[in-house]
Amino acid sequence: PTHRPGHGAVAPGLDWSDDDAVAALHGDMAADRPPTVAAPLLGADPCMPAVAHALFNPARPYEAIGEMAASSARDVAAACHTAAGEAAAWAATPVARRAQMLDNAAALLIARRGALLSLLVREAGKTLPAALAEVREAVDFCHYYARQARQLWPGAAPTPLGPVAAISPWNFPLAIFVGQIAAALAAGNPVLAKPAAETPLIARLATELLHEAGIPRGALQYLPGGGEVGARLSADPHIRGVLFTGSLPAAQAIHAALAAGDPVRPLIAETGGVNAMVVDGSALAEQVVRDALVSAFDSAGQRCSALRLLCLPEETADGIIALLGDAMDELQVGDPAELASDLGPLISHGAKANVEQALQALADQGMRITRAPLAPRDGHFLAPALVEIDAPERLPGEIFGPVLAVLRYRRTELPLLLARLDALGYGLTLGIASRCPSLIKTVTQMVRVGNVYVNRNQIGAVVGHQPFGGERLSGTGPKAGGPWLLWRLVRDADPCALI
Ligand code: GLU
Repeated sequence: PTHRPGHGAVAPGLDWSDDDAVAALHGDMAADRPPTVAAPLLGADPCMPAVAHALFNPARPYEAIGEMAASSARDVAAACHTAAGEAAAWAATPVARRAQMLDNAAALLIARRGALLSLLVREAGKTLPAALAEVREAVDFCHYYARQARQLWPGAAPTPLGPVAAISPWNFPLAIFVGQIAAALAAGNPVLAKPAAETPLIARLATELLHEAGIPRGALQYLPGGGEVGARLSADPHIRGVLFTGSLPAAQAIHAALAAGDPVRPLIAETGGVNAMVVDGSALAEQVVRDALVSAFDSAGQRCSALRLLCLPEETADGIIALLGDAMDELQVGDPAELASDLGPLISHGAKANVEQALQALADQGMRITRAPLAPRDGHFLAPALVEIDAPERLPGEIFGPVLAVLRYRRTELPLLLARLDALGYGLTLGIASRCPSLIKTVTQMVRVGNVYVNRNQIGAVVGHQPFGGERLSGTGPKAGGPWLLWRLVRDADPCALI
């Protein structure tokens, strides 16, 4: 790793065409054994071990990779109680020390990348490049919030909220898990971290590394389990706020629980989107195809930022759709451990069934569906699909998988199209493909979305450079990896006082 002053170690990337570097990475993965048991890590004495259930590799559903013991109601209550008791000590820990611990954690994430990568591939079904990018994002989050806290609060820090629940998704089981925790800890809050039920092992390893970095066990507790654990955490009176990334219905349920409590507690949520790319007649067809392909099918479409609806002007639509179809035929769906694979599996049988059901519903409405070839037989793999729809409203909300809808529009109807996209209610990412500066400016000003990307793909926001998060049905803000999140995690603070 290289070092930059004031920033700490930077997680190294990889030249994937360098066979020696790739072999070294595989060597790291083979040498560093990840944990196989995900059981609660509480600040107090461990409770009775809960009933465990097996976890399977989504690419090979007959391969058990470990087991999870879900947190019981007693575990949740005990953890919240411990966190409340720990709150004053953690709030009194100097900002510089908290930040140092996060920098230490970043270094440990880099040192244990072999085990983290294995889990990202085998537990979350990530391709190797996506897995490495995720380790690097987790490292960036640690450094970013550490540096933010140091810069914002060089003297006395403001009063933190108190115990915060961090409820994270399976699609970024390391980066978002660590990012939420790092932000809450940097602001001085004890954290109760609830990873997704699909990916508790990687979260367990990350929690152990954060503890090793110096975070007290009472200030960071790990509570694996499903939605019931998240619901219990949100309802617990010790909890002073929730950081959540996941589905819209889950966010709404948590919001209701927080609003019902006394005091009314804040929710910082990032949910999904029906993200469009608006292409105009001046856009370069090859670039549109390249950017759309990455945006729609990277991570098998399991990103909330992913492109769902490609809007093409009538005059160039046929050509672009033909190119897109040919390019999709080249995509390799397969074992995410193989470098040749472009798309890995969906996370679970249920996730795959949901996407297939949504496709069937569109087919039943007479929409034309083209599917790329699919080789693997086992595993929760899905062939990338292109669906030609005649109205944005055909989409049943977010389809969380490798499905790209295409819509043709008339040039004169662009304002109407933007209004209809807006009326879907989401506001996460938007792509614009155009070589006309005035059109780019107009569209950017008209839309209400969190992240606009121009003439590039629309995924993979970079921590600190492209703060990520949505508006309206897509989330509450403040954005992750942006300058305002820490302010939302403290009380009685006035960021303007510092300007
Ligand atoms: N931050 C990710 C990106 O920009 C998406 C996060 C998510 O899917 O929740 O692609």
